[in-house]
Amino acid sequence: MAERWNASGRIKAKFGDIAWNYSFVVTYHPDKCRVTFRPKVQLTFPSSFKQAKKDKYVKAWSEAVAKAFNNKWKLVPVDPQRCEQCKDGIDIRVRVKFVTSWTWTDDQEVTVHEGEDKGSNMTNWYLEDGDFGTTGKIGGVVHEVCHMLGLEDEYLNEKHYPGKKESDLPPDHADGIMDDPNKPVLDRHMEIMAFNKAKVNDHLPCPTYKLAKQ
Ligand SMILES: [Zn+2]
Repeated sequence: MAERWNASGRIKAKFGDIAWNYSFVVTYHPDKCRVTFRPKVQLTFPSSFKQAKKDKYVKAWSEAVAKAFNNKWKLVPVDPQRCEQCKDGIDIRVRVKFVTSWTWTDDQEVTVHEGEDKGSNMTNWYLEDGDFGTTGKIGGVVHEVCHMLGLEDEYLNEKHYPGKKESDLPPDHADGIMDDPNKPVLDRHMEIMAFNKAKVNDHLPCPTYKLAKQ
């Protein structure tokens, strides 16, 4: 029997005025030894887009998310003796539920824009931005999904984050997706998502878990 809980909260960046809500559903499948983090994203495409075109973007973005997160990490019990289920670890997956027709929802709403790139953020995705298409690197989508999972930006930008300095960033920020959308999700990012946001230690059956590579 799967167990399910919600992870949500508000993040206010330390510098500047940027704030947002993270929210996702966490599902634990004991039979599969798997936990899934699933943000729900309601997409509003330009009105000229036919369903087939919307589907093409959704497919490419879903694949980009799967590639960035899946088959990379697992949660292993710190003390396997004290635990009955999934002693060898629990596989972590991220799957975005993209919704392309409007429904009443408290989940993330994203507007997809054609034409001039005015700077993408969590809720506005510009297709002219090279990181949001259906081909190439498309890491921008993964970066915005990371915000929905509770991660903060790790770059300097005087307009977005006035007063933020290099010393305010993690030493390895340039290696990761929260600085550069075409870099990978780092182990410490997954630790924040799993332990601080999804609160897996409060819900999964063993007393405590740590993150491990698959
Ligand atoms: Zn960002």
